[in-house]
Amino acid sequence: MAQFKTLDDLDLSGKRVLVRADLNVPVADGRVTDATRIERLLPTLSDIITQGGTPIILSHFGRPKGEVVADMSLEVAVPELERLTNQQVTFIDTDWTDTDVAWGLVLKAPPKSIILMQNTRFHPGEEKNDAALAARMAKLGDNYVNDAFSAAHRAHASTEALAHLLPAAAGRAMQAELEALQKGLGEPKRPVIALVGGAKVSSKIDVLEHLLGRVDALVIGGGMANTFLHASGVDVGKSLCEKDLADTARRIMDRAGEEQCAIILPVDATVAWHFEANAPSRQYGLDAMDKDGMILDVGPASIERIKGALDDAHTLVWNGPLGAFELPPFDTGTVTIAQYAAERTKAGKLVSIAGGGDTVAALAHAGVKNQFTYVSTAGGAFLEWMEGKTLPGVAALSA
Ligand code: AMP
Repeated sequence: MAQFKTLDDLDLSGKRVLVRADLNVPVADGRVTDATRIERLLPTLSDIITQGGTPIILSHFGRPKGEVVADMSLEVAVPELERLTNQQVTFIDTDWTDTDVAWGLVLKAPPKSIILMQNTRFHPGEEKNDAALAARMAKLGDNYVNDAFSAAHRAHASTEALAHLLPAAAGRAMQAELEALQKGLGEPKRPVIALVGGAKVSSKIDVLEHLLGRVDALVIGGGMANTFLHASGVDVGKSLCEKDLADTARRIMDRAGEEQCAIILPVDATVAWHFEANAPSRQYGLDAMDKDGMILDVGPASIERIKGALDDAHTLVWNGPLGAFELPPFDTGTVTIAQYAAERTKAGKLVSIAGGGDTVAALAHAGVKNQFTYVSTAGGAFLEWMEGKTLPGVAALSA
């Protein structure tokens, strides 16, 4: 990963600082129901204000598809933003076609206040990375700070084009994220183990391919492991399985051999006959699977095998649950391994990095979301990072 600039590299005093945030917050009945994304922005806002700058926040909110949609106005975030920052927030409504009026309002905003601009996606140029829209945005500020890793995989006007028009740097949350990811796959403490689970191989082929050359061991769990087991000649019965990807699975296993990356597949399974919570289940070895059953979790021997692999590792990168963790008792594998990784992290023996929507939910369910070295809540951006892709919003901050 290239070096990137941070807030420390910008002169903020007396400057208007455009801050690209991710305020795509959950809302119900006109109120923000979870302010995590606002909370994550606080260190950046506080640093800018302390150094005498004025933050001007830019964010998308929902998918208005380039049109002004009243119930996707970012004004909804103002009360929570004021409460959490203890500062006055000036909301500037604009459809982004002409920002002269917005500029007049920026000039009138009281000193030391925070300015929040209307949803960037109200203009079609946002998602097209339109240069003219980025230029209109650039006129509002002196510097640009991107604090939205979760939106950095998209080359949009406010995440990419704009970064080239002003002195640009990563905000504190973006900085923390990039530094954590660097520890995961950039310059990790070896051996590195990756744990990839979730429903389907098809959504994670690029992740698996990229990891093969970078990690020492790759644990494959969840529904996607069934495709690998099937490709190895195991009868997976009625389990979720992408049989058409058997060749892909075999190719990945062959390449792992060439790359000297150990592939760790389940050696036993928890099988049920209904996909529902508390469905009756049994544990089977792979040579004696029930043809009418569905593998919904890794079995106890697999859990011990994965624990052993974690004992050998210094760094863990994890995306995707090991089983159908939403349905107890099929959360056992995911919960046990999450808690074990948290224990080893606490003991200073493991650097643990995890990310992706379902993975964050699984770690929260296991009660260890705050006990990993770093948990990324970015979904698409985290996966693209695991695929080894250059994220346009990050590339634009290169030092
Ligand atoms: P993903 O979004 O690809 O990370 O997939 C997460 C989903 O995979 C979760 O909803 C899990 O319930 C599901 N999943 C994990 N293991 C299995 C399995 N063995 N059978 C069916 N679904 C599974």
